[in-house]
Amino acid sequence: MKILVLNCGSSSIKFQLFNMKNKSVPLKGIAEKVGLKGSFVRIEKANGEKVRFEGEIIDHLVGIEYILGITTSKKHGCIEKLNEIDAVGHRVVNGGERFSASVLITDEVQAEVERFCEIAPLHNPANLKGINAIKMLIPEIPQVAVFDTAFHQTLPPYAYMYAIPYSLYKKYGIRKYGYHGTSHYYISKRACDILKTDIKTQRIITIHLGNGASMAAVKEGKSIDTSMGFTPLEGLIMGTRSGDLDAGVLSFIMDKEKIGLSAISTLVNKQSGMLGITGVSSDMREIEDAANENHNERAILGLDMYHYRVKKYIGAYASVMGGVDILVFAGGIGENSPESREAICDGLEFLGIEFDQKKNKGLRSKEAIISKSTSPVKVMVVPTNEELVIAEDTMRIISEMKKKSRK
Ligand code: AMP
Repeated sequence: MKILVLNCGSSSIKFQLFNMKNKSVPLKGIAEKVGLKGSFVRIEKANGEKVRFEGEIIDHLVGIEYILGITTSKKHGCIEKLNEIDAVGHRVVNGGERFSASVLITDEVQAEVERFCEIAPLHNPANLKGINAIKMLIPEIPQVAVFDTAFHQTLPPYAYMYAIPYSLYKKYGIRKYGYHGTSHYYISKRACDILKTDIKTQRIITIHLGNGASMAAVKEGKSIDTSMGFTPLEGLIMGTRSGDLDAGVLSFIMDKEKIGLSAISTLVNKQSGMLGITGVSSDMREIEDAANENHNERAILGLDMYHYRVKKYIGAYASVMGGVDILVFAGGIGENSPESREAICDGLEFLGIEFDQKKNKGLRSKEAIISKSTSPVKVMVVPTNEELVIAEDTMRIISEMKKKSRK
């Protein structure tokens, strides 16, 4: 079975074509600057060869048509005809309270995803564009939606409710949804597979640190709390997002700076976080370089704040789970920054976290245990693989659908 996985952002389209026989990826890539000047598609073949195609990609439809063209091209493709693709799996960011698992995309599902655009205005519309493009280009191929919010639908009400008038929850669905669910699911499960332990017996704290960053408390295989909220703004300090903030700050800034809703939203989503604090960059590599090589004070402050926030959440999640057995790092920073992992785990021996600096040093993008062999808590690095989860869910749903139609 061949599954095309699509992750459509507002100006990018990531894709991976899976051969589910051996879970290999014969072709993957990204269309960038969709709808902007200088758009291009970058692909990587199974042999590691990378090719870049310049082209005017005016919208998601053109981008996906381009990608499908490459997939079937004699020179760079890996299939002859588009009908060799059995299904398309989409990352869909917000599935609200309606979806606690992946689903086959029907008109009704699509209408629901559309309804959640209000909550996820930066993401859901782009996801829908991808779904519509596939509908237009290869209408006979079934599509599956895999939601970022689904894994967190097991949160208890006392964890997902905000202490604002209850009527607003009823009226608008204002509550914590949590995001990065597919990643938290994958890394918690994979960590237990590596340790050969039953996830149902484990208290796991998953730490996904990328441009967007979030954590989850995973108890007995279920997410019971997570740091992102109603939108992906809450929680940890991110590349350009503030994370947790006293709501009073927003009205104060709006008043003093005489700015409106859209400007305050841009301020906390795009101009804050590590970029806002350091003034250096939103990119962790550049911030670490500025702190280490130039002793840039604001970069040092930013890093201290960043690590401190993660550490606070570790304490909170250990507390709500009655302890912790496994700590898992993932995401661009979690997988590649030994410095961040060390700073976050420093001083957590009281929780049973005995960090091994030697194992951690220089470790990048590799599955590994980075706690001492005697450590009661296992600290791990598990590179995330959301695309594989999307492909597997898509395959499962399509297989069930085929079985049903045969009956
Ligand atoms: P992601 O959104 O998961 O792709 O993660 C992007 C973040 O990972 C950016 O802040 C990068 O600077 C960071 N990152 C990638 N490689 C490294 C590295 N070697 N050291 C520190 N941060 C890294």
